[in-house]
Amino acid sequence: MTRKLASFALSASTFALAACATTGEDAPFTATVADAKPIPHSAPAAAIPEGTGYFASDSTLPFMAPDFTKISEDDYEPAFEQGMAIQAAEVQAIIDNSAEPTFDNTIVALEKSGRMLGRVARVFFQLTGTNTTDRLDAINTEISPKLTAHGDSITLNPELFARVKAIYDNRASLGLDREDTKLLEGTYDGMVQAGALLTEAQVEQVKAINSQLSKLTTEFGQSARGAMADQPVLFDSADDLAGLSEGDIRSAADFATSLGHEGKYAIALQNTTQQPLIPAMENRSSRQKLFEASFKRADGNTDIDTRLLIARIAELRAEKAGIFGKPDWATYTMWDRMAEKPSTALSFMEQMVPALAATQRREAALLNNAIAADGGDYEVKPWDWYRYANQIKAEQFDLDEDAVMEYFVLDKVLEDGVFYMAEKLYGLTFKRRTDLPVYHEDVWVYTVFEADGSELGLFYFDPFQRPSKRGGAWMSNFVDQSYMWNTKPVIYNVLNIPKAPEGEPQLVSFDWVNTTFHEFGHALHGFFADQKYETLSGTATARDFVEYPSQVHEMWMVWPEVLQNYAKHYETGETIPTAMVEKIEAASKFNQGYDFGEVVTSALLDMKWAALTKEEAAALDTPEKVDAFERSSLKELGLEIDLVPPRYRSTYFNHIFSSPAGYSAGYYSYLWTQMLDHDSRSWFRENGGLSREAGQHYRDTVLSRGGTMDYFEMYQNFAGRKPDVKYMLDALGLTGGSDTDAKAPNDDGAAGGS
Ligand SMILES: [Zn+2]
Repeated sequence: MTRKLASFALSASTFALAACATTGEDAPFTATVADAKPIPHSAPAAAIPEGTGYFASDSTLPFMAPDFTKISEDDYEPAFEQGMAIQAAEVQAIIDNSAEPTFDNTIVALEKSGRMLGRVARVFFQLTGTNTTDRLDAINTEISPKLTAHGDSITLNPELFARVKAIYDNRASLGLDREDTKLLEGTYDGMVQAGALLTEAQVEQVKAINSQLSKLTTEFGQSARGAMADQPVLFDSADDLAGLSEGDIRSAADFATSLGHEGKYAIALQNTTQQPLIPAMENRSSRQKLFEASFKRADGNTDIDTRLLIARIAELRAEKAGIFGKPDWATYTMWDRMAEKPSTALSFMEQMVPALAATQRREAALLNNAIAADGGDYEVKPWDWYRYANQIKAEQFDLDEDAVMEYFVLDKVLEDGVFYMAEKLYGLTFKRRTDLPVYHEDVWVYTVFEADGSELGLFYFDPFQRPSKRGGAWMSNFVDQSYMWNTKPVIYNVLNIPKAPEGEPQLVSFDWVNTTFHEFGHALHGFFADQKYETLSGTATARDFVEYPSQVHEMWMVWPEVLQNYAKHYETGETIPTAMVEKIEAASKFNQGYDFGEVVTSALLDMKWAALTKEEAAALDTPEKVDAFERSSLKELGLEIDLVPPRYRSTYFNHIFSSPAGYSAGYYSYLWTQMLDHDSRSWFRENGGLSREAGQHYRDTVLSRGGTMDYFEMYQNFAGRKPDVKYMLDALGLTGGSDTDAKAPNDDGAAGGS
């Protein structure tokens, strides 16, 4: 569930994520999925109950920042229970209102409901992500299904929907402004999407499908995991593993022994198609053996076979979409996305195919030369690819990552890099403060000031890895900007930079510097929010949009003026050499035919599955037909899939098949936001680069708009044109093919809002 949908329907996912992780792409989406079952209120409440304890009222600290000195682990469960009871009573009061439904007494009243629940959820889910304990984890397990059921009891309440619909049907005559209209439409559409317009019989059908989907996707997840974790690859001798480190070989021997194969060697499979140990293996047949064990996972190569399972999941999803009057699952599930329908996402990806395929062939030719130079008499296969690509990369770029790190010291990266960028673009200034309580001693807090000196909000920076923190990096809010509540944003960025030993300089890798700029891009999206309603505020945007503003801000990391201000050697103070930066940038374009190509291939596969009609899916009734569908879906586009197979094949594509909705019809988002990002970078380059004028324009047209308008219109307002995929292809070094710059992704008339 996206935050945009409904702030009144809380779930763990609602709060755990405004955004992202650099590695998030590999983390299967685990949002709780609403099951279509209204939970009747046990007793209609006559009055709104009063809450007790810390979360019953707003914090009295500046910006309503959470007062961690006053919160104990005992507070959460009662606060959640009370928060849900209060909101249930508030919703009942809306329903019981004898006055005719109006925008204020229904839609705004709903937006105002659940204040206490929001307070506790924000703090609680922040802590379970960044500084959890066994107790917090236990409460999480206990409370998450209750929150889902509570959300459903509102979203699927027929009496509430009757009021919402009355207002919605009459919306043209209400004189609502753009944001009001968006709130009304979002509330209505969210309830319709959950099943509010269905007949009782249809609701029963949907429930039956949901329960089957839940069973089948769980079975898929278990089978895919089994095919990975329970089927390690066995090798007979240490010679088979020549090239691996002594440690890796020893681990493989120990692993085999633990499995009862004394004297042999076992390697466990990792999630993706490519396996990390393959490149180091000197023995080609060992490389092939490990690769094929991975690639043929769960496709009947062993006793685990998920092929008929995924065809059945695809069929059930299409059937469910049909009940909602939609032709396929992708159309049903993409209702609130920027791309809005599968044809838009598909044609966007198909446009990349010629350049991508040409790049793949060019890279393969390079690798074939390297193989020949190495004395090989064969053509490159996927199991050879990284061995030779890594070799060429090492020769061409000769990058010493440790030497690069010496130019990136954490406090300079943040204060002289990220904050400097924010000052140059947006006029912001920052002041560290130590008077506010934090949830961990390693959290830094800053007040953020506008160019005119007024206070904009509060920024928490939590940079270091620790055992109580989950992996990756993300941003979210303790407090959302909202004019309705008269609140300013309180925002945190969480990273997982390895902490330097006491007394040593806190150096940061190039990738983590990049992530620091990225996460602050999300933060700016939150700080510049200019909305009445929390539900539409700041980063509360579509799944295929939210990563875009953050990605754009990565560009300033290597912008010369910014770089010169912060990238200084920790000992000598010398600025990072231009040649070093150029080398890093050139290296980032290397091997994109594979690195980018395997992602595009998986995204295409995802969308092809999600765009099947019920009949098409039902026709895939043998494992062989499933194989043929997968192959033809990709082959017909002209991709070199025998050289660059998908990052995940259908049979182990957990993102899309291991939960009832998951990330299905959503894997393209990562590419889509990159397309917007690179198009925007070209706009900045053409319009003054790092300047207050350019920054102000971006703030006015994009960063301040939250989820209040059509995304294509927003983009048009910013760039004065539709986004074009060519900038992304250029940036990634993907060139060649016949029609790479043929058309903008939405030129097929599929633009959002049309
Ligand atoms: Zn992000």
